[in-house]
Amino acid sequence: MNPKIKDDNTVVNLRPKSLKDFIGQENVKKKLKIAIEASKMRGDHLDHILLVGPPGLGKTTLAQIVANELGVNIYATSGPVLERQGDLAAILTNLSRGDVLFIDEIHRMAKSAEELLYTAIEDFKIDIMIGKGPAAKSVRISLNPFTLIGATTRSGLLTSPFRSRFGIILELSFYEPKELATIIEKAAEMMDIKIEKEASLILGKRSRGTPRIALRLLKRVRDVATVEGKDVIDVETVEKAMRILDIDDLGLDEIDRRILKTIIEVYGGGPVGLNSLAATLGLEPDTISEVYEPYLIQAGLLARTTRGRIATDAAYSHLGYKKRDTLFDM
Ligand code: ADP
Repeated sequence: MNPKIKDDNTVVNLRPKSLKDFIGQENVKKKLKIAIEASKMRGDHLDHILLVGPPGLGKTTLAQIVANELGVNIYATSGPVLERQGDLAAILTNLSRGDVLFIDEIHRMAKSAEELLYTAIEDFKIDIMIGKGPAAKSVRISLNPFTLIGATTRSGLLTSPFRSRFGIILELSFYEPKELATIIEKAAEMMDIKIEKEASLILGKRSRGTPRIALRLLKRVRDVATVEGKDVIDVETVEKAMRILDIDDLGLDEIDRRILKTIIEVYGGGPVGLNSLAATLGLEPDTISEVYEPYLIQAGLLARTTRGRIATDAAYSHLGYKKRDTLFDM
């Protein structure tokens, strides 16, 4: 069997299937539970949902859980794939009553597809142009009522008319180390790995508040345990794996630290504009602002100001710099 497929399957199997098994995000779960129950009692489609939060926090998983709990099909796609109205129209016309349409990275949809989606989610109708030039005509097609679940990293990335079309907007937050430890322990059980409690807690602390990272680290720690011939993952194995992966005690990896060091060393601690910072680092501005920054902000190491990004005092001390005194310190 292709090992990649096997690996993907393992990841899919780790996804919780019901709200009950989904750890953390209590507020989000509470709101979803009520909305799902009400929609089932009314026998009506569930209102459209926008899930907001950094990558790896469980947006796709929640969309699948919603479809599961409703007992409907889910069709999953992503914004960048929907380049033309026709791509989206083909998906919309194939949805059955009550189905869930999940669009990941919904802020990256082409404008024309986004406009088609407006009428689709408001009236369950779409107007599409058939033919070209003077002979072209618009045809109205009725759709089965469905639930759109959109996922985005920041709600501000969506235009306000788009945002206002979602009846339910849910913001996911970073997980507590304890919650991540529970996710790690459950996953370890499913993967038939033994891990000591203390070890899962340390791993939880180093997972940047993100289940996807927690699961990835668990696999790497398992590799170290395998190579060392250990049956149980203990604290020593975790510490060793973290050293090999160059992940520090706050869970920062090499890129996180490079971002902070660049602000401190090249820009005197900031403020520095996102584009200048991205150019210096050789990274995409979106990657910095959507993937790396949210956790650095949450950890109190970086701040966004109107004039740009700054490294906080905590960043200086975490990386061993004397506050605002980079010239003599490094
Ligand atoms: P997103 O869509 O926000 O990028 P995913 O839903 O793909 O995130 O989740 C990433 C991984 O983390 C998946 O393998 C998923 O099973 C796992 N995961 C996310 N949230 C949880 C949770 N609350 N409990 C258990 N596993 C979770």
